[in-house]
Amino acid sequence: MSRIFSGIQPSGELHLGNYLGAVKNWVQLQHQHPTIISIVDYHAITVAYDPELLRVRRREMAVSLLAAGVDPNVATVFLQSAVPEHTELQWIFNTITPLGELERQTQFKDKSARQESVNAGLLMYPVLQAADILLYRADLVPVGEDQMQHLELSRVIARRWNAAFGRGEDYFPEPQAVLTPTRRIMGLDGQAKMSKSMGNTIGLLETRDEIWAKLRPAVTDPARVRKTDPGHPDVCNIYHLHKAFSPPETVKHVYEQCTTAGWGCIDCKKVLLESMDQELVPIRRRAAELREQPQRVDEVLAAGATACRAIARQTVADVRERMGLD
Ligand code: ADP
Repeated sequence: MSRIFSGIQPSGELHLGNYLGAVKNWVQLQHQHPTIISIVDYHAITVAYDPELLRVRRREMAVSLLAAGVDPNVATVFLQSAVPEHTELQWIFNTITPLGELERQTQFKDKSARQESVNAGLLMYPVLQAADILLYRADLVPVGEDQMQHLELSRVIARRWNAAFGRGEDYFPEPQAVLTPTRRIMGLDGQAKMSKSMGNTIGLLETRDEIWAKLRPAVTDPARVRKTDPGHPDVCNIYHLHKAFSPPETVKHVYEQCTTAGWGCIDCKKVLLESMDQELVPIRRRAAELREQPQRVDEVLAAGATACRAIARQTVADVRERMGLD
């Protein structure tokens, strides 16, 4: 049966882009496939960070994932740095990855353009990601669209390692992406994808008031200047969020009201806020309960690391044996 692996960086709060692009799929797929979810803290340290804050964010990320519906009774949730085989396999993969492929990665180019000095970890990020996935010989990776290029590199690495050391066997499967219908959520500025590193997010656990303070000024159809101008829902980020959160009949109504200038953008955003509450209030409630039980969260992460280490040790032992390193 196909095994699922995916990860999320604890570099900030879990936001609606993460939730709609990836986490919702994890929650659904965990009942159909063995599922491993990693809080990838070694990825999060590739840009400047505060250690105390990272400690807090790792825990908050675990709370957010569990509150969003990742169920530790069926899925395995763990901290990447608790399983040292991730970096061991990464080193091995570094040695078969051409530098040119890494320099061509769009995320590397974007992120490095925003840094004063670029560290080697940022460049190697997709190799660590390949190690994360292949360590568990996962074949399905539910991610947002922004990860497609990295995943292609994981396939290249799997293929190259199999060809060099697989002894005629495809030891590592070539992992395939699984996308949601909302594979790319834009930030509230309408300029770039919603991302922890861009400051344009709505956090999954933010309160109704906090969400409204962000939604109210959020960019809509740039061509709609006056309330009496008809809007173009297909270019409006708020309409896309309606499609993610509102029932189909509301989405249809929103479309009609926008294109006939029946509603202004604020009316439309108020309806969106109600739809979001329907889905997010229970998640916030579960998060509040989990924050009261830090020991339970620790237990989930510890059990996850133990289960993952058993698989990871075996993979690394196999790899070392085939590479003359045993
Ligand atoms: P971020 O870019 O916010 O740091 P991560 O790199 O931790 O997010 O990604 C975690 C998951 O969320 C990945 O599968 C990624 O593809 C997905 N994701 C991140 N941002 C978005 C977005 N704006 N729309 C859809 N999916 C996203």
